[in-house]
Amino acid sequence: MSFIIGIDGPAGSGKGTLTKLIAKKFGLTHIDTGITYRAVAKAVLDNNIKLDEKEKIIEIARNVDIQIVPEENVDKVFLNGKDVTQDIRSKEVTAIVSQVSSIKEVRLLMVELQRKLAKGKNVIMEGRDICTYVFPNADIKIYLKASLEERARRRFEENKQKGINMSYEEILESIKLRDENDMHKEIGSLQVAEDSIVVDTTGLEIEQSLEKLSKIIEERIKEIKI
Ligand code: C5P
Repeated sequence: MSFIIGIDGPAGSGKGTLTKLIAKKFGLTHIDTGITYRAVAKAVLDNNIKLDEKEKIIEIARNVDIQIVPEENVDKVFLNGKDVTQDIRSKEVTAIVSQVSSIKEVRLLMVELQRKLAKGKNVIMEGRDICTYVFPNADIKIYLKASLEERARRRFEENKQKGINMSYEEILESIKLRDENDMHKEIGSLQVAEDSIVVDTTGLEIEQSLEKLSKIIEERIKEIKI
């Protein structure tokens, strides 16, 4: 049996940083499900497939080999054997990933992979639909949110450090578009699960958010007597 913490929320809500810190603190396997969709989007670009070529995109999703190798800071990602850890965060991939992940068949294939990745492990899994669709029976469900401006500002700082050249305004627009798209998917859209605990990270430093989440997790662990 495995123990599952699901963390959902929009881009820039703090999911990435916080889930890695929580994984370390509580000795859990960290799974970033966005990686799976980003890898498919990268393969779509590599093969010069257009967004309206749905069947070809589904074919790509069916045949890609995605390997995620956990590392101390950034998980290494291999797409058909090639290291794409950096490439899947590019502006180009970010621009199409939401549309690629809107295709129902792509989602079904990736959800299957995500469930396989978690099998038999104690995990913290981050994404958009973990608590509503991938693991509706997760042991702990959290939804992270933050204001649009703060999320764009965080992503801007993150990108600067990673050497990704995008202006604040460009990021704000891209996040707005992605939110809109992510909230209106046929399956697995970005939603707050009925029984998720909502945590607003606006104005909080990482340490403060970490403390807040740790408390919620510790209390819930006590409640369910793990
Ligand atoms: O989390 P990240 O920003 O890397 O995710 C990239 C995109 O992948 C999201 O904008 C969303 O469209 C998609 N995604 C999804 N379901 C998930 C995780 C990510 O649709 N569980």
